[in-house]
Amino acid sequence: MRKLAILGATGSIGTQALDVAARHSDRFAVTAIAAHSSAEKLFEQVRAFRPQIAALTVEPEEIPADVKNACQWIFGPDALLRVVRACDADDVLVSVVGIAGLSAVMESLRCGKRVLLANKEPLVAGGELVTRAAQAAGQPLLPVDSEHSAIFQCMQGAGPNRPKRLILTASGGPFRTWAKEDILCATKEQALKHPNWSMGRKITVDSASMLNKALEVIEARWLFDMPAEQIDVLIHPQSVIHSMVEFEDGAVMAQLGTPDMRLPILYAMSWPERLETGGARLDFSQMKALTFEQPDPSRFPGLGLAYEALRVGGTMSAILNGANEVAVDAFLHDRIHFGHIAQLVEETMHAVAPVYHATLDQVFESDLAARAKAQELLGTSRFAV
Ligand code: NDP
Ligand code: MG
Repeated sequence: MRKLAILGATGSIGTQALDVAARHSDRFAVTAIAAHSSAEKLFEQVRAFRPQIAALTVEPEEIPADVKNACQWIFGPDALLRVVRACDADDVLVSVVGIAGLSAVMESLRCGKRVLLANKEPLVAGGELVTRAAQAAGQPLLPVDSEHSAIFQCMQGAGPNRPKRLILTASGGPFRTWAKEDILCATKEQALKHPNWSMGRKITVDSASMLNKALEVIEARWLFDMPAEQIDVLIHPQSVIHSMVEFEDGAVMAQLGTPDMRLPILYAMSWPERLETGGARLDFSQMKALTFEQPDPSRFPGLGLAYEALRVGGTMSAILNGANEVAVDAFLHDRIHFGHIAQLVEETMHAVAPVYHATLDQVFESDLAARAKAQELLGTSRFAV
């Protein structure tokens, strides 16, 4: 029986993790759940899963008596950290969105808890610190992001062989076939309509701009200790191959499956075992073709920014991430056009100097500097809608 804490329990990943935990209730006990402000949803989860601890970063005005007395409650801006310290858990699934998860990831490792990582922004912003902390704790970082889970699954068969190249697949998102002019002024509704995956709003917008793949290149750089030059991105619209690893002899290993996050979530939870997810299975008789395309940098300039951030090094990836969080939020609040997202990230990267050999505090300082600069740029006429 593994004891699991879920940070971001009310989100797309969090609810699917609870779903697979319920399916295997003989194997997993959910001992703590945390979210931001979705109180009603968290109350329902407390009733269904009976955790020892529940937490919200925003304290609700009222809590029904039955859930109030059902467990220990933690509220406030530092709720995630307090949950990590207080919970009786072997594993912490970090599935909050944005850099908000970074401190919780570091604290989980410091407390000797194993981290199952869906939240990619902490690795993008603080990859060096996070991977070093995991090594110091003697803990694996178990990837939940489907591409990184795919690579991790391929690596299980690699023995001592180092990969020569990682090939991250990308669906291409809703604008894969669109003309550049149309992408620049795409609407929120169009950006939020992902062809293959159902996910939270931030990552759905990131997928449309391909900044999600940019974040994933940086994530892969740290998870697999791989230089950026050996990480490729390949558009694969069917989302059947979730990513691939090429070895010295030219052999390529791939992991395939339906686009269902329950598989990578459960694999991280049960690794090295495989358990039934309850999801649909691949049916090759119904599959017409698996196709591949090269990403188009002129229509999706966001992807190249990952390689630039890694080349510059230091906290430039944190700057990229902070600017992107501001840009996506501004787009979702109708403050900028879709095409402004990558432009704002790029301009912020060129305006904020990175810090080298950064401490955790300095990573947060770079994040804040990027956010301030991005907000300032947002006020200029170049970003008017
Ligand atoms: P959602 O927006 O659906 O869910 C986010 C969750 O985090 C919610 O529970 C939310 O609580 C909580 N949360 C948000 N901000 C805070 C905060 N400051 N403090 C505490 N809790 C917070 O996101 P997703 O589940 O889609 O994504 C989560 C992470 O996983 C992201 O980093 C994403 O990139 C990554 N990921 C997601 C995939 C997916 O299929 N969805 C696939 C691969 C990676 P509340 O409901 O109260 O706001
Ligand atoms: Mg992914």
